[in-house]
Amino acid sequence: KLFNEIQEAKGNIRVFCRCRPPSKKEIAAGYANVVDFSGAKDGELGVLTSGSTKKTFKFDRVFTPDDDQVDVFADACPMATSVLDGFNVCIFAYGQTGTGKTFTMEGTVQNRGVNYRTVEQLFRIVEERSDTFSYDISVSVLEVYNEQIRDLLDISTSKRLEIKQSSEGSHHIPGIVEAKVDNIKQVWQVLQAGSNARAVGSNNSLMSHPVSFSPSLGLANLLLFYSMLCILVKAKNLMNGECTKSKLWLVDLAGSERLAKTDVQGERLKEAQNINRSLSALGDVISALANKSSHIPYRNSKLTHLLQDSLGGDSKTLMFVQISPSEHDLGETVSSLNFASRVR
Ligand code: ADP
Ligand code: MG
Repeated sequence: KLFNEIQEAKGNIRVFCRCRPPSKKEIAAGYANVVDFSGAKDGELGVLTSGSTKKTFKFDRVFTPDDDQVDVFADACPMATSVLDGFNVCIFAYGQTGTGKTFTMEGTVQNRGVNYRTVEQLFRIVEERSDTFSYDISVSVLEVYNEQIRDLLDISTSKRLEIKQSSEGSHHIPGIVEAKVDNIKQVWQVLQAGSNARAVGSNNSLMSHPVSFSPSLGLANLLLFYSMLCILVKAKNLMNGECTKSKLWLVDLAGSERLAKTDVQGERLKEAQNINRSLSALGDVISALANKSSHIPYRNSKLTHLLQDSLGGDSKTLMFVQISPSEHDLGETVSSLNFASRVR
């Protein structure tokens, strides 16, 4: 109830900020911590921009390096209920490469992230409601590469996937695989299949081009793709026969850092430009929503077009802004926090 009231007041977009702990490398290099968490309980985050100047940002929630996956999920958990109640939901992580987007969304096997926990919660509620509702749940896994949609559950296909709008207004991708799942284990298997498919794809494009930028980051960290997971829910109320359809998007965005033209060339430059374009399109959409603008520019990128049903209207959106605590990343940190501020 309270969550829904908060959602109402905020135009259905909530923004959580999460700061990762300093890395061993940062500690070894002696980088200073530029983030002040003293107001974290009240959703305030301070950033020491230079010397004694502190800029303060306000969020719905601030997670410090001491908050673990369970703490984070405790606040993201109502999203699972919402999607089963028939709302479209979108949870995504934004930020510079290496700040913990994948850690927050996917996590690790020992330390599961939002994706796994949300789906687990979904099935828990389905079980609880089994006397009154019957649910049909399926999963699609896709990525957008150079403004083209790739179905990670069917990489053999060379068919062009396009977004279509149905007569009742919802968006879908004809031909994309929607794998029916009955439990969390099956979801996990589907995800494995999806990530194997990505590895194959990466061999074709990324790995065959030696990369020179961000030497401090391992190649494994280099994600110029979006990982997009869509959970489709069909609900039937067993009492009155009423049916609803809703979907939950879980998105691990590409790194938001701007790449210098001198650092990337050719195909890589084109990839980077497409990423920048879609991330700024996403920023434009959420700020248009926050400003209650009459025109929401969903069509400016595949990313926003795909997420259209789950951004705005009566859908619920949760954005994680991921940051680094280190002075070394200050510029990107401020830029990510500014991006997030456009929502409020
Ligand atoms: P991104 O996806 O934004 O590029 P990653 O999720 O790969 O970043 O995180 C970079 C590194 O930092 C990984 O080794 C990850 O395990 C670690 N990390 C990120 N966030 C946290 C956190 N909150 N607690 C512990 N380790 C973290
Ligand atoms: Mg990542």
